[in-house]
This record gives sequence, structure tokens and C-alpha cells, in this order.
Amino acid sequence: NNGAAPFLPDRLDLDSLREAATRCEGCDLYRDATQTVFGEGPASARFMLVGEQPGDQEDRKGAPFVGPAGRILDRALEEAGIDRDDVYVTNAVKHFSFVLRGKRRIHQKPTAAEVDACRPWLTAELALVEPEVVVVLGATAARSLLGPAFRVTRQRGQPVPLGDGAGALAVATIHPSAVLRAPDRDAAYAGLLADLLVAAGTVN
Ligand code: SF4
Repeated sequence: NNGAAPFLPDRLDLDSLREAATRCEGCDLYRDATQTVFGEGPASARFMLVGEQPGDQEDRKGAPFVGPAGRILDRALEEAGIDRDDVYVTNAVKHFSFVLRGKRRIHQKPTAAEVDACRPWLTAELALVEPEVVVVLGATAARSLLGPAFRVTRQRGQPVPLGDGAGALAVATIHPSAVLRAPDRDAAYAGLLADLLVAAGTVN
């Protein structure tokens, strides 16, 4: 596998991109996953939210952030005053990576090579949507967008240049699934919300 680049369409718009991504074999993750889970949202969105990868429910339904983490995210967006119509949501990796334990599919963090392989899709989404701010949800998305030296724990909630050439800002925060796993869920949620409020404050 040579990554996603050879699978990108000639005509770059969100519909042709999404359609072409259904056939991507840029890394091995397409083999066991149900389907490609591409980003969703309007091309006019001022906010782009980037997570790690689809989870079990996202893989089955073919849409990003429709499982438990998505519900946390929806609530936090609403509380932060960010309109869903102004949001494009996607993931650093477009196929579900998992290991089987019995019949259960357990989420497995994508490798650096898989993140690299999938980056052409994310780069194309960024170029088409041209968001004003990218909310980077967790370490995998941060690695893809901000490089391996970026540390979400230390640099979250601070607007930094995305370096996309279009002047977009990035604000990193935890992945909403980390709220579900946190010993103190309320504190973790409050942190996510605070970072989203920073992102909201960078636009308009
Ligand atoms: Fe292609 Fe990304 Fe899926 Fe790998 S994870 S097959 S690069 S869409």
C-alpha cells in the first residue's frame, strides 16, 4: 500500500472526494472495516473538527461521530454555541481499526503509518472546506495535523497556526471518547467545553 494519494479523484469537490474514498485501499485498514467513513458537513463550514478514526457504530452506519463519543461532542458543541450547520466533522483515519475479542470489536489506535497513509484525504478536505479554525480532537489527529512533537496535554486550548497556507488556526483538545473513559467525567467534559469555547472565540 502506498497511501491514499493514488485514489484521490481528478475533480476535487466534496462529493467526488467522498465517492472516491469508498474505494480507497491506501493501507490495510479497508480489509476488515465495513466501509469508509468520510467527513460530513457543508463546504462552507467555518469549523472543522478532526477526530481519530470511526468507532464501532460509525463503521456500521458509515457516518462520523454518531456513537457515544458523538453524543458528547454534540452536547459540547451546543453548549459552546457552535452551530452544527457551521461544522464539518471528519477523522484523521477513515476506516475503523480494531482487534477482535471474542465477538467484540475493540478500538485499536491507528499506527503512524496508517495516519500518514490516510492524510491525503484530510488534506483534500481541508483544502476544499477552508475552515477558519480546526478543532483537533486528541493525539492522533494532532499527530496528523500538527506533527509528532505536538503535545495535546500541554498545548490544548491554545490557538496555533495550522500551517495550511490559508491562515487557519488549530485548537487542540481531548477526544470526546476520553471524556467517557475519564475517572472524573465532569472535569474532563468541562475541559473539552473550555477548549471548544476557545475555538468558538477565534471566529467572526
Ligand atoms: Fe484508505 Fe485511509 Fe482507509 Fe487506509 S484508512 S484504506 S488510507 S481511507
